[in-house]
Amino acid sequence: MSSQQNRPSGFSTRAIHHGYQAADHHGALVPPIYTSATYAFPDVAYGARCFAGTEAGYFYSRVGNPTLALLEARLASLEEGVAAVVFGSGMGAISSTLWSMLQQGDEVLADLTLYGCTFSLLNHGLTQFGVTTRHIDLTDPNQLMNAIGPRTRVLYFETPANPNMRLIDIAAVSNIAHRAGIKVVVDNTYCTPYLQRPLTLGADVSLHSVTKYLGGHGDLMAGAAIFSDAELAMHVRVFGLKDMTGAVMSSQDAHLVMRGLKTLSLRMDRHCQTAQMVAELLQSHPATERVYFPGLPDFPQYELARRQMSQFGGMVAFELRGGRDAGIRFMDALQLVTRAVSLGDAETLAQHPASMTHATYTPEERAAHGISEGLVRLSIGLEDPADILVDVQQALDQAQNT
Ligand SMILES: *Cc1c(COP(=O)(O)O)cnc(C)c1O
Repeated sequence: MSSQQNRPSGFSTRAIHHGYQAADHHGALVPPIYTSATYAFPDVAYGARCFAGTEAGYFYSRVGNPTLALLEARLASLEEGVAAVVFGSGMGAISSTLWSMLQQGDEVLADLTLYGCTFSLLNHGLTQFGVTTRHIDLTDPNQLMNAIGPRTRVLYFETPANPNMRLIDIAAVSNIAHRAGIKVVVDNTYCTPYLQRPLTLGADVSLHSVTKYLGGHGDLMAGAAIFSDAELAMHVRVFGLKDMTGAVMSSQDAHLVMRGLKTLSLRMDRHCQTAQMVAELLQSHPATERVYFPGLPDFPQYELARRQMSQFGGMVAFELRGGRDAGIRFMDALQLVTRAVSLGDAETLAQHPASMTHATYTPEERAAHGISEGLVRLSIGLEDPADILVDVQQALDQAQNT
């Protein structure tokens, strides 16, 4: 949306207004929710043109819906992409996108560390259809240069990676991948477009579990893919979403996501500020062995974080002295912080990746992929920072007591 004097609107303004004119909807300030599954055709020829793709009208809500279309336009604007497609979950977005981009015999190159269900899709799911995945350490872009093979089609990673916060230099690896004709797909869930915009750094697709920060309230499941190429976006919509997975988002949930987007920048500022405080507390406490947070100056990729992200995010991971047992003592001692998977909610959440989100890896795979058995992951919420700090401090004290 352009406002006065053709000055481009800022991020928060677009998160609230982009793509909607109240005057076109009886003056309704909040966009209407179109619940219709199907759409009336004025005549047969019009319906046929919709199906042939020569008419832009809506015809069935698995392919397109006005409420979803508004959310898609907003997400495309926030990520600075040309088009977006929304889905019924983050895994719906990931599977619909990859299934649309890959064929039997193709290979995916992926970073070592991935969200557990993505790891399973790549290593146990797509393999059933003749697509293979090789994992390499993408924190070192030189490894990519040597790893690219004749069948490599897609480069896939998260940054920061779930759960151990490794960062990948999006511009550096995209540059290498594109020279070899390989598409770059980034899971941007941890950052949201407010902190990091992969498409502006060279990636072809930015994926989200909208369930997390974008929805922001833990009350819906949704996903999104934002593209720098309109043709690929259309292929993912009319093939991946419509025919392969059918992982469609409900219009009621699209309404809730747009409600969440209105406060995205405010929420992210607060998540990031409190996460920095928690990371510093963890680092100063004798119970911790290692803290993984990109905003700590001794984080190995601190310089990359400063270059690539506008702030350091709301996720903190750490290992306690005493490994897995100490981690479990810490988690069981928490009083305010909730023991739960997921992230990006108003509530601060603690989970144990080895037994929860990353249980899809075997113990050997976790060891090889850098997910230690004692790692604890915190999603820092929006409660008063002092209350979060007090609870984390007392649980750390108790974790030390054997
Ligand atoms: C949660 C998550 C997913 C999966 O999203 P769902 O909405 O749960 O399907 C994918 N990637 C990352 C990084 C996640 O945290």
